[in-house]
Amino acid sequence: MCCIEYGGELGYYQEDIARWKAEGEIEILVKIGIKVPDAPCTFLSDEPYRCTIYKTRPYVCRHFVNGGTPCIDLRTKHGLPVYAAA
Ligand code: SF4
Repeated sequence: MCCIEYGGELGYYQEDIARWKAEGEIEILVKIGIKVPDAPCTFLSDEPYRCTIYKTRPYVCRHFVNGGTPCIDLRTKHGLPVYAAA
């Protein structure tokens, strides 16, 4: 849900940039230069949806808690059912 609705504005930290440089992830570095509000994340594959950079995804994605406060806020904003954190 969040990858589809908010991934176009994918956030990342300097630590992500440093890791991607060290890993030689040039394509990621190029793609993150373009932010498109309300668009799916550029790293999300078409159905079946999956993160194409899962192993090196940004910290913001690694630490997003399903059922956490940001998740609940986003789901509420879009009128979706809210689930408790596992
Ligand atoms: S990088 Fe992967 S986990 Fe993060 S928003 Fe994009 S598709 Fe989702």
